[in-house]
Parts: sequence; C-alpha cells; structure tokens
Amino acid sequence: MIAEPQPPSAIFHRSLTKTYPTATTGQGVYITQSDGSKILDGSCGAAVSCLGHGHQAVIEAITEQARQLSFAHTSFFTSDPAEELASLLIKSSDGRFSTCMFLSSGSEAVESALKIARQYHLSKGEPRRTNFIARRSAYHGNTLGALSAGFNPSRREAFEPMLSPAFHHVSPCFFSRDAIDGEDEDEYTDRLMREYEDKFLALGPETVAAVIIETVGGATLGAVPGLPKYLSSLLELCDRHGALLIYDEVMCGMGRVGTLHAWQALGGTPPDLQTIRKGLAAGYQPLSGILIGSKVHDAIREIQATLPFVSGHTYQGHPLACAAALAVQKTIVRDDLLSKVRRMGGLLSQRLRDSTPCLKEVRGMGLFLAVEFSTQPGAHMASDVAATCMKNGLAVYLCSSAVDAVLFAPPFIITEAEVDQLVSIFLTSVEEVLQ
Ligand code: PMP
Repeated sequence: MIAEPQPPSAIFHRSLTKTYPTATTGQGVYITQSDGSKILDGSCGAAVSCLGHGHQAVIEAITEQARQLSFAHTSFFTSDPAEELASLLIKSSDGRFSTCMFLSSGSEAVESALKIARQYHLSKGEPRRTNFIARRSAYHGNTLGALSAGFNPSRREAFEPMLSPAFHHVSPCFFSRDAIDGEDEDEYTDRLMREYEDKFLALGPETVAAVIIETVGGATLGAVPGLPKYLSSLLELCDRHGALLIYDEVMCGMGRVGTLHAWQALGGTPPDLQTIRKGLAAGYQPLSGILIGSKVHDAIREIQATLPFVSGHTYQGHPLACAAALAVQKTIVRDDLLSKVRRMGGLLSQRLRDSTPCLKEVRGMGLFLAVEFSTQPGAHMASDVAATCMKNGLAVYLCSSAVDAVLFAPPFIITEAEVDQLVSIFLTSVEEVLQ
C-alpha cells in the first residue's frame, strides 16, 4: 500500500526534521506568530536584532539602497555603503584597526580570519604556521573549519573527524565561577596562561598561526566575560611567540555588552584580528566582518604582488547589507543606545538576581546575561524553562548542554516596562517548571 503523503506543516527545516512555529511580523521587541500570538524577543534570536523589529530608519536605508544599487560583485567593485561602514567601524575602534573585510555569516568571518592569520605569517617570509589554539568552551560557527575551531561536542559528534588537524584546544574556563570558587583572578589567569604556554611549547611556537577566543563566551557556556588580565596576558604571550590573537566577537560584539567592542569593556586590550557579526546589521540583512589591525594589513599589503590574498565569497560586502548596517550603527550612536544597554542590562540583571528561584548565577555584561540554575550536576531544567517561556510568550536562548543555563540578549531599545514583562514571564515559567 502506498502511504498517503503527509501534509507538510513546513518544507523549510533548519534541522531537516524539527518543525517550528511561523513568525509573520515583527515590531519593536515583539514577534507575531501566524496564529496572531505575540512573543517577546528576549534573546534577539541569538543576540542579533539589537534594534528590535521593523525599525523605520533601517527599512528606509535598505529601500533607498535597493533603488540605487543592489549588487556589485566585490571582485569588480566596492560600494559607497561598504566604504562608509568600514570607515565608521575603523574610526570608532580607538585606532586599533586599519581595514575591514565584510562577509555574510559569522562562520565565514571566523574561517577568513584564520586564513588571514596563516597568510600573515607567509607574507612575513616565515615558514608556514598551520596550527591554531582555541578553547574547548568556545563556539566559533558551524561550517567544518569553524566547527573544528570551536569545541561543542554535540554539534561536532555527527561530523567527526573534523577535516583539519590544525586545531588544538586548551581547557574551558569559567572566569566568574572558577575565580570565585577558590583562586583569585590573578592566580586563575596565571594557571590559564601556563596551559597556553605549554600548548605553544608542545606544538612548537613557530607552528602556531593564531590563538582564537570569544572575548565573552556566548552560546556554549552563556555570557562568560574574559578577565582583563587574561586578555592582556594572552596578547603578550601571542606577541612573544609571534602568533596572532583573534577575538571572535560574532555574538558578544557590536554594542551587546555596552561598548562597541566587548574588549573595550574588558580592560581595552585589542586583538590583531576581530570578527563581528550579529548586531552589525541587526538581522535586517546577513552581514559579518573582520576588523584587521595595521600589523597584519601592512604585512599582507607589502607582499601582495607576489602573494595576493586569494579568498572571496560571492555575496560578501553586499550593498544592501552594508546600507542596513550603516543605518543600524548610526541609530545606535544617534540614540545613545550603548548607555541604554548598560542601564537596562543593570536593571535586568538585578531583577533576575533578586527573584529567580533555583538560581546558581546571573552573569554577563550589558544586555548579554545568562541565568544558570542550581540543579544537580547532569540535571537540566533550562530546556524546560526555555520551552515554557516560549509557550508563555517569551523567547530565550538555550545554552549548550554543558551548562544548565538560558541566555538573555533583548533588543537595545527595550523599555523598563518591557524588562518587567520579560522578568515576569520568565519567573512564571520557572515556577511552572518547578511545580
Ligand atoms: N562565532 C560565535 C562566537 C558565534 O556565537 C556564532 C553564532 N552563534 C558564530 C561564530 C557563527 O556565526 P554564524 O551562525 O553567523 O555562522
């Protein structure tokens, strides 16, 4: 007998099998579903929609750019919005970067940064440096190269072995908690640095192209800020061994923690290369980028006649995406939204800290906050909490199974009343799970 075909409730499946409710419209901090119900966007998806939904200035900028020019391949042309956006980003980065490359996804940006790091060493006339050092707690994206750089076992499992043996990992770190649990910050940082040093020595320092870290860990452990001393010691270590330091600020950057770049709120140590992504065009268009310091840019430029940097993606630096990002970034400055991120982040973190049952820790900075529950090791109430929040009208991001935690990253435009609503739905949902 031939089985009746099932009416497809959805044909587009992110996971090839699981279905999702349909989002139809978005306005401010809310997304409306096809049944008319509203969801408060408590995590901007995964820290993306920082201006909320339906922002007029961004819509107008995209529309105007579409009238003027939608696409011009970057192997032939640059474009006005790409140039203006690059210049704005470089000017607002304390003189740390001299150029910028735009791509489309965070994974592309990570992989291109790794390629630039390898090319930098060749440009300097050194033997090939092929290795990279990363942290086991990191997430750097889902393409096979970026997946190899990160270390989320559940995301890697089905695809092992990774394609490249070039990635070497040091242990996860939990700055806030480990430091509180015994060692002071200096001792903790020294221990982490010894582990990096041992890894360099084991690999041969002359083989290491770069160290890559998330400045504030996001998807795996949930809003774990690096300590200022960790960042400055790591740069010093990389410099000593001639390796580059890459910050992956795909999730934590572009204002999310209350400064344009997360490292600016963590002691101000800049990297050699930095990825940017989610808040850059705030979900209005797919856009990512790499900010590149002059040391790297100059080395690659000097030798371009004999060793050009050959890499490229068809949609990179898309004019509509750059126009959207330009409007987003100008709005953030015009409306002083970074101050608002700090203010509303303080409020949200205080309210969550004061009233969440079963709370182990509220951590993070600005509007990038994780709530970890104090369940037994191995137990996981966060997934039930996230599902119950969704049923009750609040979307929160579920961190990896390595922690029992959810992540809050609401739009920068969130009001105090909306913070109250978010906390109220969250607490009701936690109580419901605990019953
Ligand atoms: N790096 C980090 C730190 C991320 O959080 C992510 C996405 N969550 C990525 C890279 C990959 O970005 P994308 O999903 O745009 O490829």
